[in-house]
Amino acid sequence: MLTRRTLLQQALLTAGLVVAQPLRALALTADQLTIANVTRLYDVRVARIATPQTTAEVAKAITAWPGKVSVGGGRYSMGGQVAIDGGLHLDMRRLNSLVWLDPAAKRVRVQAGMRWRDLQDVIDPHHLAIKTMQSYANFTVGGAVSVNAHGRYVGNGPVAGSVRALQLVLADGRVAEASRQQNAELFRAALGGYGALAAITEVELDLVDNTCIEREVHAVPLSGYVDFFNREVRGNARAVMHNADLMPPLFDAPTAITWRRTDKAPTDTQRLQPRDRSYALERGVIWAMTELPGGGALRRSVIQPLRLGGERIVWRNREASLDVAELEPGSRAASTYVLQEYFIPPRHFMPYVRALAPLLNTPCAEVLNVSIRHSPPDADALLPWAREEVFSFVIYYKQGTSEPTCRAVGDWTRSLIDLALRHEGRYYLPYQLHATRAQFDQAYPEAAALRELKRRHDPAGRFSNALWARYL
Ligand SMILES: Cc1cc2nc3c(=O)[nH]c(=O)nc-3n(C[C@H](O)[C@H](O)[C@H](O)COP(=O)(O)OP(=O)(O)OC[C@H]3O[C@@H](n4cnc5c(N)ncnc54)[C@H](O)[C@@H]3O)c2cc1C
Repeated sequence: MLTRRTLLQQALLTAGLVVAQPLRALALTADQLTIANVTRLYDVRVARIATPQTTAEVAKAITAWPGKVSVGGGRYSMGGQVAIDGGLHLDMRRLNSLVWLDPAAKRVRVQAGMRWRDLQDVIDPHHLAIKTMQSYANFTVGGAVSVNAHGRYVGNGPVAGSVRALQLVLADGRVAEASRQQNAELFRAALGGYGALAAITEVELDLVDNTCIEREVHAVPLSGYVDFFNREVRGNARAVMHNADLMPPLFDAPTAITWRRTDKAPTDTQRLQPRDRSYALERGVIWAMTELPGGGALRRSVIQPLRLGGERIVWRNREASLDVAELEPGSRAASTYVLQEYFIPPRHFMPYVRALAPLLNTPCAEVLNVSIRHSPPDADALLPWAREEVFSFVIYYKQGTSEPTCRAVGDWTRSLIDLALRHEGRYYLPYQLHATRAQFDQAYPEAAALRELKRRHDPAGRFSNALWARYL
């Protein structure tokens, strides 16, 4: 019998707005066909959205659609990397089940749309933790692998190093297993590949023990920071996480924050960040810092000492399960919060940071802080952001959303990219797409190898998104 629902579905199918059953399909209105990202800048209008829950459904959606295909996870990338105009969008967020967990081997296999926070729920009872992830837990595993994300983990570098194997669905719908031993070139291209060659449907990861970690905070002179890092952090087997914050207006006085493994009892016994926590206080603090006269001084003299003062010992999973909700402003209509990141070899640390600081005081953006991290060279990804050992500089800023401001931010970003290139550095690709094609090619000469692989595995150029439409 035809119900009202099936009649509606048939009408939508005829109109080409949904993918045929058994795939669950979204996209009933033009608004719902708009794929937004966290910044609310750069919406992309797609023709169809599919929400697969199995690998077979991913393969079926790709083979059934004749045009371009984009893949999306948590949508925290900031320049349309998850969608392509007029294409099929694979929304992977419901492909989010555990495949298997082997606690003794400290290994797990999950569907790629699972978020880190959901994985933490599964592994925490086994006293296990994620080896490498971003600073927040909202991202999908597939999205993290596809940008080759990194966190504050000492000595780990990007997430690629903890990936054992991937299951991929290729442009012709074929399902392929990829690892360092099997389909190795596809494996390398998928790590940090931004959905250029395949949809990642499953990810197999190494895990580590969930231990207690104790925070240590040091004010370090800028000129002594690299020595401090080599002596106190890199050389210390108990150091688990580390970053150093530079604050406006001078960006010249690192506050180094290191979390070291400890046998002491936790001062906060929560094993994971509660999901239903209110972040009113954190949001109020960010508002005060950016909106109130004297907000910067308030932050330096009151907020920062309060935030980092006192003894703090937590479970690793507690510190790794932070929620981006703590950063989310009340509205992103007139202004939005954005990131950029640059990777600079240690030999250029001082000249780079000295040249960077004056550029950060710009009328088009309000830089809230710069977080310095470290990565050893990346031996896995085809398109590595850490071709050699690097310090990374994560710039967190607020910008207006008007067209003139966005244009000015584009000019400013290109000058920051030039500065990184002059210091033999690279820039990170999940953020706004302000780089010129020449800047991209200079930063990532390995893109030629990715183009060549794409010609072989996706000759019709089906996998695409705003990033690859512009640069590949
Ligand atoms: C507040 C905030 C903090 C951040 N902190 C960090 C940090 O500490 N470290 C860091 O490295 N980055 C950080 N980022 C950047 C973040 O890692 C990336 O934006 C990442 O892409 C987010 O994961 P996602 O699931 O949202 O991926 P999405 O944004 O949905 O996708 C990113 C890219 O991966 C592709 N993709 C996603 N899933 C798949 C799949 N299953 N198969 C194939 N391709 C896929 C997409 O096509 C797209 O090109 C941060 C971003 C924000 C907003």
